[in-house]
Amino acid sequence: MRRPAGSRRLVRTVTVIAASVLLAGALAVSILQVSRARCFALTGPVVCRVETERPLVALTFDDGPTEAGVGAVLPVLQAHGAKATFFLIGRETAERPQLAARLVAAGHEIANHSYSHQRMVGRSRGFYERELAATQAALEGAGGESRLFRPPYGKKLAGLPNEVRRQGLTLVMWDVEDPQTQDPAAFADKVVTKARPGSIILLHAMYPANATAREALPRILEGLRGKGLQAVSVTTLLEQARRPEPSS
Ligand SMILES: [Zn+2]
Repeated sequence: MRRPAGSRRLVRTVTVIAASVLLAGALAVSILQVSRARCFALTGPVVCRVETERPLVALTFDDGPTEAGVGAVLPVLQAHGAKATFFLIGRETAERPQLAARLVAAGHEIANHSYSHQRMVGRSRGFYERELAATQAALEGAGGESRLFRPPYGKKLAGLPNEVRRQGLTLVMWDVEDPQTQDPAAFADKVVTKARPGSIILLHAMYPANATAREALPRILEGLRGKGLQAVSVTTLLEQARRPEPSS
């Protein structure tokens, strides 16, 4: 039995709408995945780790600077002879330049993590330009020299990587990140287990919610040393990896 023409048209219309919704959904998921990809950006290079046999890892801290965070992290790094890169928020750096200067004075690297820490996807070119340039000025005012940028929430699509490149910055992501656990020992063990030569380790230690990472830090540094890995800044890791291996 044939269905009436009107009913056939309705079925066809519903099928087309359903297929379009599915396609739009799949596209949205793909864009989300690309925006979050650790080692890939649509319009420019990304560093998420460095290929090297040298026993080095880059230790990186995002956000701040805050008095409590800097106060908690600096002595631990010093006690373990470790160096790190701090991706600082421009606004917080401009408000507390003395904290950023303390990091520089202790031999650490300070780098660009945007001015206002908003999601940097689907914004105007002017927005990206201001966020990066104002932060770079705040960092340089505190004695910073690095040209590294890490996007807030690790989110980027086309416009941001373009602007990062235009301003002569390097987009830095990570291959090891702070684990989802409240237990400092488990936290440290997970980080140490994943770390390998050339890794870029992301930690958060600046705010009260980051107590686990702060407590885990000594154990992380001991664990890295136990694996023969030295913690350095991202710029040091990039420079060392470029040099020829010492002949033994
Ligand atoms: Zn952040």
